[in-house]
Amino acid sequence: MENQITVEKATTKKPKPEADQLEFGRSFTDHMFILDYDVEQGWHNPRIVPYQPIILDPAAIVFHYGQTVFEGLKAYITNGGETQLFRPQKNMQRLNRSNERMCIPSIDEELALEAIKELVRIDREWIPTAPGTSLYIRPFVISTEPYLGVAPSKKYQFIVILSPVGAYYKEGINPVKIAVETEFARTVKGGTGEAKTAGNYASSLKAQELVAKEGYAQVLWLDGLEKKYIEEVGSMNVFFKINGEVVTPELNGSILEGVTRNSVIRLLDHWGIPHSERKISMDEIYQAYQNGELEEAFGAGTAAVISPIGELAWKGEKLEINQGETGPISKKIYDTLTGIQYGTEDDPFGWTVTVS
Ligand SMILES: *Cc1c(COP(=O)(O)O)cnc(C)c1O
Repeated sequence: MENQITVEKATTKKPKPEADQLEFGRSFTDHMFILDYDVEQGWHNPRIVPYQPIILDPAAIVFHYGQTVFEGLKAYITNGGETQLFRPQKNMQRLNRSNERMCIPSIDEELALEAIKELVRIDREWIPTAPGTSLYIRPFVISTEPYLGVAPSKKYQFIVILSPVGAYYKEGINPVKIAVETEFARTVKGGTGEAKTAGNYASSLKAQELVAKEGYAQVLWLDGLEKKYIEEVGSMNVFFKINGEVVTPELNGSILEGVTRNSVIRLLDHWGIPHSERKISMDEIYQAYQNGELEEAFGAGTAAVISPIGELAWKGEKLEINQGETGPISKKIYDTLTGIQYGTEDDPFGWTVTVS
């Protein structure tokens, strides 16, 4: 495979959004990366081109059967003015695990990471510098073969786009209200829950829309079969602190394995805080709450890093957690992870990758 990334620079540059106008995923930089796949040549023609619409045949498989995967990570500007990524190799590995589940041919992880770095370098001036802001990186694969039969595509494109994003918490880290979903399922074991693929998000919209009307930020998903065991919250993994121990659902085939989840576990280990990955039923959470042992709850994902849960609504009950305030462990993890990402804290694990 020819690995040399060619670059075609944009001749006109778009205006950049003002720092206080940044929204998640609404504006995009001047360039994008594309890599093509066909059966004869494999993955080929890696190129950076001006950001532009893509033209696809209306019969392209992705439109009909959703054979597609994506990733999400961020680039940060440190106080010293360096650009860095947070554990991007993990995202590339997960990209290929998602590809494998969706019958998409594996992508050279080093080439994909090099492409991301080169693209971020070229659009570096798009990375916002105000506290808490970053450049969101969205790699994704689409199946482009025009064919209405249900079969894996023979053609794909791997594309990377970049979007400057504002601070997730504008007034400091803040707890959210979450509704436990007892009717709809996001996925089931054996389904596609452990892949970052579009269908999982399409299937979550209905539940999300209904709870939003009641004032809840996200749904907490239970297992799709018995609606008994906790899985994830929105597009975050979830942790609870019960009587001094931090617990998170074990990876069971329907949960997405978050890079943030893994980083939280590594930090807890490092600090010697008791923790485990295991099955957690909603009944257990309710019992712990009744006994006054439910000390903290939080979501963990790239967008928010840590999102404390102040209230859980379940079967008509409202479980208030830590008086609706951010708990000490949630805060400590948030401060440490964001500190490493923005280069204000030491990085003893070697998690950051410098771009420039
Ligand atoms: C992306 C995602 C996460 C979080 O993964 P991170 O790598 O930590 O950002 C968790 N759950 C779902 C369903 C996701 O799509």
